[in-house]
This record gives sequence, structure tokens and C-alpha cells, in this order.
Amino acid sequence: MTWQTHDGVEVVHMAPLEAAGGVAAFFTGRRGGVSTRWDGGLNWSVSIGDDPARVAENRRRTLEILGLTPERAAIAGLVHGNRVAAVTGADLAPAGAPGPRVIPDCDALITNETGLALIVTAADCVPVFLYDPVRRAVGAVHAGWRGTVAGICAQAVAAMSREYGSRPGDIIAAVGPSIGPCCYEVDDAVAVPLKAYYGALAGHCLSPAPGQEGKYMLDLWEANRQDLHRSGVVSAHVSGECTACGVGRLFSHRAEAGTAGRGAAVIALI
Ligand SMILES: [Zn+2]
Repeated sequence: MTWQTHDGVEVVHMAPLEAAGGVAAFFTGRRGGVSTRWDGGLNWSVSIGDDPARVAENRRRTLEILGLTPERAAIAGLVHGNRVAAVTGADLAPAGAPGPRVIPDCDALITNETGLALIVTAADCVPVFLYDPVRRAVGAVHAGWRGTVAGICAQAVAAMSREYGSRPGDIIAAVGPSIGPCCYEVDDAVAVPLKAYYGALAGHCLSPAPGQEGKYMLDLWEANRQDLHRSGVVSAHVSGECTACGVGRLFSHRAEAGTAGRGAAVIALI
């Protein structure tokens, strides 16, 4: 995964997807925006008290990297569930109306239309990027722990198969910047449902927190990679960028005590 700056906007490119050609996939850092509440200013969320005009400018700058306007983008509403929405041009904002259009009640978006950007926002939750270079389809997934144990990645892969004929073995996946196993301590409220969904595989994702009874370090990167693997996705890469460790460049809900801005996972067929 590669950091790059585009006219001041810092993003992490999902190199394994982009290397296949025909796709742009990146996650935004915090630098290059105009919001005043956060260092770097590149907040993507309108639901955390930021000035909507500044957020709109941040979104415009980000999408300019793709040569797209916000009207050509769809953003997932995010409800920590496992619903996937298939997006077409008809779902986008009409000409003259401001974009991106919010697609409600879903945590993952898929499309097979070129020049249509799919977006999920996050600040510690796991963004997962999906690209099928054979059937020309993409997906953007928001996987916090609730979405992860609800199988959001498996649901997104299944939806790409159903809607576009994607074979899971053709899909290239990348787990983007998010809270890492170094910084994500959880208790049984998370560990119990995780074990219920993953069974024996949970041992790959959970380890006891040193010296703390009933606490665990959770590796949501590996959890989502395992979910992708058992869905048939062979090529699943992990960026390894921890948002909490990297809070100077990325937004982190935990590292900023709940006051963080939000980054954006952006993917589009180009
Ligand atoms: Zn960390």
C-alpha cells in the first residue's frame, strides 16, 4: 500500500488492486482538507458537527483525484449491519443537485459502472475494497466489529457474484487502514459473537490482552481476511496501517477519544 499526495490531499492507494489496472482504490488520510476542527482538515462526515460547506469541499478535492465530481459518487449510510446495495447511475444525484448521494441502510456498496465512485467512511472501522477485473465490478465495505461478525465481507462477495457474475477467485481484496491488533482491546461483548461467527477461526483473530482477565486484542484485519478466504477470495491483502498508531496522518476514533473526523474509502472503475 502506497501513500501519495494529490494537490495536498494525502491518500493510501490500494496497490494490489490498482496494479491489476482499470480501477482506482484509496483511503484518505487527514491532510489536505479545509475543516478547521482537526489537524489536516480532510474530514468526510457531515454527521459529527462539521461545517457542511467544508465537508463538501473536502469531498470535491478527494474525488478530483479521480477526475470525478461528487455527483458521480455514492456513499453508504452505515448502520453496522450486513446489507449490501448495488448502485447504478440512477441512484446518483441528478444533474445540478449536490452529491454524493447517500444510499441508506447499508454498509457495503457494489457497482459495475465505470466512473461511479463508491465510498464508505471510517475512523478505525475496517474499510474493505473489492475488485473483480474479469467481470469489471467493484465493492466498498464498512466492517466494524458488528459488521464483521455479521459477515459483511461474505455478503458483499455473494452480492457481486449474484449481480455481476463475479467468481470469488477472481476478486482482489484489500483491507484498508483501520484499527490494528496492536491497539484494539475488546471484552466478551465482542469476543463472544466473534467466536460464534468464526468458530475455530476465531483463534486467528483474538489473543488474550496481556495481564487483563476477560480482555482480548482483536485483529479485525485478519478476521475480515478470513471471511474473504472462506468466501473463496484467494487474493486478500492487508494494508497493515493502524489508524490509532498512525493518528498523525489518519483519523482514529479510539486514539482521539471519540472526537475524530472521518476518512473515506473510495473505489471506482476507471
Ligand atoms: Zn496500532
